[in-house]
Amino acid sequence: MTPLAIHNPANGQLITTLPADDATSVAAKAAAARAAQAQWAAVPLARRQACIEAFRAGVVRDLESLAATMTRETGKPIRMSRNELNGLLGRIDFFLKAVESTTATETVYDDGGMKEQIQHTPLGLVANISAWNYPWFVGCNVIVPALLTGNAVLYKPSEYATLTGLEIARLLHEAGVPKDVMTCLVGGGEVGAALLAQQVDGVFFTGSVATGQRIAQAVRGRFIKLQLELGGKDPTYVCEDADPKAAAESLADGAMYNTGQSCCSVERIYVHEKIYDAFVSHFVKTVGTFKLGDPASEDTYIGAITRAQQLDVLDAQVADAKARGAVLLTGGARMAGPGNWYPPTVLVNVDHSMALMQEESFGPIIGIQKVGNDAQAIALMNDTRYGLTAGVYTPDEARARALLAQVNAGSVYWNCCDRVSPRLPWSGYGDSGIGLTLSTYGIQTFCRTKAWHLRSA
Ligand code: NAD
Repeated sequence: MTPLAIHNPANGQLITTLPADDATSVAAKAAAARAAQAQWAAVPLARRQACIEAFRAGVVRDLESLAATMTRETGKPIRMSRNELNGLLGRIDFFLKAVESTTATETVYDDGGMKEQIQHTPLGLVANISAWNYPWFVGCNVIVPALLTGNAVLYKPSEYATLTGLEIARLLHEAGVPKDVMTCLVGGGEVGAALLAQQVDGVFFTGSVATGQRIAQAVRGRFIKLQLELGGKDPTYVCEDADPKAAAESLADGAMYNTGQSCCSVERIYVHEKIYDAFVSHFVKTVGTFKLGDPASEDTYIGAITRAQQLDVLDAQVADAKARGAVLLTGGARMAGPGNWYPPTVLVNVDHSMALMQEESFGPIIGIQKVGNDAQAIALMNDTRYGLTAGVYTPDEARARALLAQVNAGSVYWNCCDRVSPRLPWSGYGDSGIGLTLSTYGIQTFCRTKAWHLRSA
């Protein structure tokens, strides 16, 4: 067992070292989880709901220390850690309220002699391999509905958010979920790979496209459910009738919130030439107000870059863009350590020959491109292998709807961005993934259907 060292990305200091899992312990935990699942599925739904309600109460009770833990291990600004935990409560409430009606057995035909029913039964044992950027959201989008619907969960949090993953497991166990029904595995990619070698009934992954491809390879030939929630290169188009100041303030936040480390961060902005100069000026001014610093400080907006390797990606994208003619308006290079720091960075005069406009940046950097008309904007928005979210800013709803109907993305936004709702499905087109979480579909996804044909005589 190689121990897992956990560092604070804001100062590089070692927080702790944890004993990690290995292939043998993963196999033993998978066997225990498999054995425990049927009994959990037989627990009445009301009791499973009560466990999740108690879990919610634990999150509320411990919110300050949970936020501090997340901030320490990921570098997320403390106010954003609290926002994530408070946002989680709404997601839990949605799942608690929707699970009964969403999974109730439906009678779809009954003529007195012949009855037909659809039953929703749990998948069984599900693997959840997760990312670090919103560890409570992406972890619980799977764990909560999976448990409510009677599945056992083997959860491998990111090695960059393991302390948070262990807190999720602790609170669920304290809330009455049996230990073997919800198991947290500790380690990096090799532990995730060991998990995929187990006989699981579903794999639910959140992370990068490259790892998603490895996961799809690892489960190929096995007829199990596979969901992949991957990266994005999310575009927004600002029309000439939009308010440039309001749009710039909204989109600067959409691009830089969580230090740009959101799957649905705004990653590309196209602005109509008629308001381009005003928009860029307001955008740079807004970014200038974003305070970078100690993630534990109340007034910090830009925190640390969680993974040191991402600094190379950001520097390379800026260098490539500049070499191809982009103009840097602010930021543009990693900052001195200790810790991983990158300032808010804005580039203009950009085009699609640049990696900045093609590949996920996952940091506080943005390219703003001038466009002449709607058709050009749509063509550029769709010139991507991703398809997570896309937005349009205009006061004209009909125009926004007409434009967004042409964009290939799982979520589309009118006059807003970087937004996730528990009531709506969260899914990606293209390389942004397959399957979905959230909404009633994100509950049913943890079930399989059983069709009942019942003749009474
Ligand atoms: P990552 O792909 O590096 O890691 C994700 C998880 O996969 C980690 O737990 C890691 O240990 C594990 N892993 C790595 N190699 C593995 C292997 N061979 N087999 C099994 N597991 C393996 O991603 P990350 O850096 O944690 O997350 C950032 C990415 O996640 C970004 O691309 C972001 O856009 C994406 N993301 C997407 C969504 C979404 O909802 N679409 C949400 C959050 C993050």
